[in-house]
Formats: sequence, C-alpha cells, structure tokens
Amino acid sequence: MNASALEDFSTRAIHGAYDRAGHQGALNPPIYWSSTFAFDSAAQGAARFSGEAAGMIYTRVTNPTVQTLEARLAELEGAEAGLAFGSGMGAIASLVWTLLRPGDELLVDLTLYGCTHALANHVLPQFGIAVRTADFTRPETLAEQLGDRTRLVLFETPANPNMRVIDIEAVAALAHRLSPALVAVDSTYCTPYLQQPLALGADVVVHSLTKYINGHGDVIAGALLGREVLVQQIRMQGLKELTGACLSPMDAFLVLRGLKTLALRMDRHCQSAQRIAERLAAHPAVAQVHYPGLDSHPQHAICRRQMRQPGGMLSFELKDGLEAGIRFIDALRLFTRAVSLGDAESLAQHPASMTHSTYTPEERIAHQIAEGLIRLSIGLEDADALWEDLDRALAAGAARLTT
Ligand SMILES: *Cc1c(COP(=O)(O)O)cnc(C)c1O
Repeated sequence: MNASALEDFSTRAIHGAYDRAGHQGALNPPIYWSSTFAFDSAAQGAARFSGEAAGMIYTRVTNPTVQTLEARLAELEGAEAGLAFGSGMGAIASLVWTLLRPGDELLVDLTLYGCTHALANHVLPQFGIAVRTADFTRPETLAEQLGDRTRLVLFETPANPNMRVIDIEAVAALAHRLSPALVAVDSTYCTPYLQQPLALGADVVVHSLTKYINGHGDVIAGALLGREVLVQQIRMQGLKELTGACLSPMDAFLVLRGLKTLALRMDRHCQSAQRIAERLAAHPAVAQVHYPGLDSHPQHAICRRQMRQPGGMLSFELKDGLEAGIRFIDALRLFTRAVSLGDAESLAQHPASMTHSTYTPEERIAHQIAEGLIRLSIGLEDADALWEDLDRALAAGAARLTT
C-alpha cells in the first residue's frame, strides 16, 4: 500500500462508500430493517435475479445497510468487491463450499482457528475433498503439496493462537506458479489497517468482523473481499444457496460504527501489546512469549515487512507448565476469562481446552499448539493496570508450587 493510502485509512473507514445525499443527510447509514424489496415490474425482478440489473432482492442476498459495509470494507482492503456474512465461519464455509468439489484439494497451514481446523480436517474429507497440511512458515516445503488439483490455499497470519507469521507474498507466488488455486488469507488478527494481503498477491481475504473490526464484543459477523466475479459467485451460491450465513442490517450498522475507530483502537492495542510482550519476556516465570513484535520472534523480519504494527494478540507459556497456567488464569482480576479477541476488554483463555479443543491432543502436538499455551487479547484499558494484573497473577501461578 502506498503512503498516501495509509494516511487515508481513517478517512475511508469513516466516510467510505456512503453518500448522505441519498439518505436525507443522515450522518450514519440508515438501518434498512426489511427482509425483502419490491420490484416495479416482473421484468425488473427477473433482471435483478439474472444479474442484468443492480438493486435489492432479499436480505439473504444483500441489503442496503449491509451493502454499505461490504463496499466500505472492500475499499479498505483494496478489493474490487466485498461480501458480508453472519459470522467469520459463515464467510469461510461459504468460500469453501463454493469453490471445492469432490476430488479437489485444499492446502492449509498447520495452525488454524479451531473451527476452521475442524471444517478442513474433520468435515471436508467426508465430502471427498482432500485436505493437505504444510508448514507455511517454510514456503520451500509447499511445492510438493501443490498441484493441478489444488483449488484453494488457506492460511492465517499471524496464526491463531501461536502467532506464527507467514510470508503472504512468497506463499501466493508459489501457489500461483504451481497450481490453479486461489489463495485465501484469514486476516482477522490484522484487519485491513495492519495488513493488506491482496496487495501482496492473495486472491481472497476473509475476516471475522466479530473481533477488531467491530471491536466492541456485541456482534458476530464476517466478511470476504476479492475480485468482483468471485465475490458475486460466492454471494449467489455459497451465501444464498449453501450456507445462508447472511448478516442482519442491525449488525452491519454496528460494524460500520466500530469501523470508524478501528485505526485508533488498533494503535492502542498494538502499543500496549508490545509493552506487555516485552515485560512478559523478561519475567522469570515465563518460558516463552509469542509476539511478532519481539526481536526473538522467528518471523520478526517478515512481520516488519508485511504488517504496519505487530498486532494486539500474544501468547505465552509458563516455565511451570499447564497447571501453573491454569492457576495464573484463575488469578486474573482485570483480564476477563473469555474466548474471542479484539474487544476493548482484555481477554485471557487457554487454547488447548477452549478455542483449540477442536484439535485432538495428537493434532495439537503436530500443529504446534502447546498444551500450556495461554492466549491474551490486549484490550484498551490502561497498559500499566493490565501489567499489574498479569504480574500479580504470575506470582499467584508460581506461588502455590512452592507450598
Ligand atoms: C474468531 C475467528 C474466526 C471465526 O469467526 P466467527 O465470527 O467467530 O465465526 C475465524 N478466524 C479467526 C482467526 C478468528 O479469530
């Protein structure tokens, strides 16, 4: 992304894709609280269904409030078009079911969000889709997994929950050279403010809008961004006919409201996460901190090249392992014990028993998700107050061991 586009991010997040003149001057896009839309004539209805005429049909396909969100997200992500869903999983499922047929192959990274992992590795094989897994942090190992049957390559960066960072440009170039696959990046951890996968060669970006983009812990929503033709295909098949995972106009409104402060919030999340990661790394009870903003992170250089800032998520392991980790989580007072991420409230959870319990214990070992790993979503509270809470809980986690 060029420098002027970077400067422009907040302006576009606040004003993009909405013309007040068509809405009585309303500062905010109105909520079109309607399931269906009238046609002037039978011919107009037919033209809308065939795609010859633009216009509303039915809210499962789209809706004016949802359309504003889709267009604004597309602008921010540098995409031709956008598609909103009732959840991040709705976006991923609609993508997968639209593109893949029996006999096709899906290539995924080692580490995926728990439900994406379950869909890829436990569900899709039952429908004759071959799923291959590779360590995408080592792009040289991907060549042998790519071929004529690979239709989709899917990964997250940074990956949830172990924060492995993947070189989007390297993976996309390789996939396009060695297969007809589309390359899809789940960029939920970054939002378009921190990372622009399409500019690095990816074909599709998916987001759980539930997280940073909405940012207030009060909506479940998802989105997919990419080329117009592809988005239209997924809209009329994956969304309309296969999953029905449509977004409510009220939820679209709330996500639009959250978007206005995205850049401000991300700056604060990232600043606090960097400080906390550094303090955790220096703490005697902590064995390892996974945060791409630390020099010690194996893909720190890729992070610096590919991300505007290293993000607001981190994970770590305690020297005394899982039991100390559980005591630590139970001793937290300011951090909320909860899954999800990207909210104003700081959240702590234990992936092996919570978000990544969809992996079998053997899979967790193979996929580099340590049993003792603790994941933190650094919120917008005062960073010193957050550190005090962590420091006290770390002492509580360790204290009981010695008695
Ligand atoms: C939360 C999450 C999802 C799923 O999104 P929902 O909105 O909860 O369905 C997918 N990918 C990542 C990386 C996530 O964090």
